[in-house]
Amino acid sequence: MNIHEHQAKEILKEFGAPVSNGVVILSIDEISEKIKKLKSKEFVLKAQIHAGGRGKAGGVRLIKNISNLEKEAKEMMGKVLVTHQTGPEGKQVKRLYIEEASDISKEFYLSCLIDRETSKIAFISSTEGGMDIEKVASDTPNKIITNKIDLRNDGLNSEEIEKIISIFKFNEKQKIIASKLIKSLYEIIIKKDASLIEINPLIITKSDELICLDAKMNFDDNAIFRRPEILELRDLNEEDPAEIEASKHDLAYIKLNGSIGCMVNGAGLAMATMDIIKLYGKEPANFLDVGGGATKEKVAAAFKLILSDKNVKGILINIFGGIMRCDILAQGVLDAAKEINLSVPLVVRLAGTNFKEGKEILDKSNLKILSASDLNDAAKKIVEAIK
Ligand code: ADP
Ligand code: MG
Repeated sequence: MNIHEHQAKEILKEFGAPVSNGVVILSIDEISEKIKKLKSKEFVLKAQIHAGGRGKAGGVRLIKNISNLEKEAKEMMGKVLVTHQTGPEGKQVKRLYIEEASDISKEFYLSCLIDRETSKIAFISSTEGGMDIEKVASDTPNKIITNKIDLRNDGLNSEEIEKIISIFKFNEKQKIIASKLIKSLYEIIIKKDASLIEINPLIITKSDELICLDAKMNFDDNAIFRRPEILELRDLNEEDPAEIEASKHDLAYIKLNGSIGCMVNGAGLAMATMDIIKLYGKEPANFLDVGGGATKEKVAAAFKLILSDKNVKGILINIFGGIMRCDILAQGVLDAAKEINLSVPLVVRLAGTNFKEGKEILDKSNLKILSASDLNDAAKKIVEAIK
């Protein structure tokens, strides 16, 4: 799960990390009251979307004169920002963060994440922070250093911390604050089940202060049940509506960009189905695993989800009945088709438990269905049908 910059900064603050003062607004008329909490002369207006690269896309603006703040905020609120992380469709700005502006002397990069390969906590540091870290990573990877730390209850030792921050060449006073920051990040990873914390940029101001100027945090979805305070920060506006609907029905659904909708049970079979669609020259519109013991209601919800994607030109149902019964699948598809007009070709391949009963239900219905004998045949038929 992702959260917004302003929420991540709240958490950083709670763990003692240095962040600037700021206020979040959901509508323009909140500005006049909330701005009283800030003390600076200059402000930075920051679009709150779950994507980075805002600076380059016009989503971060320096406001030198408070009298321009409202006008600039009006311009930014509601705008669709397209950054290198949003995809071409962009993301609509629905909240803004107004932060005290800092006088930047130098920008660094610091992140902390779970390294699954080594089961350690990795700290990544670079002196080349700011808006071009991707370019640094590809052109001059030697300017980025990684330190992997064991997961321990007593936290990191001073030697480990020194290794992480030595690249920054901080003075003694800054080192003390940076060490505390490293400890805070480590603690947030453990105490909040964060999987990634990225501070880019971490800055030194002209008056030698150290500040986390941007913050991105991701959390482990599998641990979120024990972090209700994090779940509260979820912003459904930032998530794909189809994926939200899928999670309500406990369906594993991920939208993709192709034209063939897939309804499958089991992640392995879903992967194989997507692969074979590609083999025949088309792209899957989604990954969808209806799971083991799906009910007909769940199947119907899954079928409707697939059809809600306007890129879908054909559907391939590939079910291997085990715990899942093919007749239940067939009934679910039929129920959903009654509610929505099925206007695209549908190929069905059923095998395993109650496949004869399932086939009978579908054959008796007035749905136009192409039956397939095996997976290969199914993929060939659906690709042919949408030509
Ligand atoms: P993004 O990573 O999405 O582009 P950032 O929060 O990193 O957004 O902002 C982009 C740039 O804007 C930063 O690298 C920094 O130079 C500048 N910036 C951001 N916040 C402030 C601030 N409070 N004061 C001064 N400059 C800022
Ligand atoms: Mg940034």
